[in-house]
Amino acid sequence: MTAQPAHEDATTSAPRCWCCGAERRDDELVHLGNHPEVAVCVGCARWLHRRATQLEDAQHPTIAGRWRSVVHSARTYVIDKGWHQRGVLGVLLRRIDRHLP
Ligand SMILES: [Zn+2]
Repeated sequence: MTAQPAHEDATTSAPRCWCCGAERRDDELVHLGNHPEVAVCVGCARWLHRRATQLEDAQHPTIAGRWRSVVHSARTYVIDKGWHQRGVLGVLLRRIDRHLP
């Protein structure tokens, strides 16, 4: 018996994001270079990029890193308040978020 890879659905074998588990078409997933069997959706890739940037900013503080930290704090505040889920305001905030560092 072989172990089922975590990213495949046992019934449909549909590609899944290894981070959030969402089903996506293979062309909607970002694959790792040395491990192409591992893939994440665009939203999780964006999240990973932000986490990597935060880690780099913590290790090498810069003025730009401080600015990104302020943006991150504002994003966290908005999410904690649930404003990103409020109708038109939520749509606007999510659209703005796509363009923030
Ligand atoms: Zn995902």
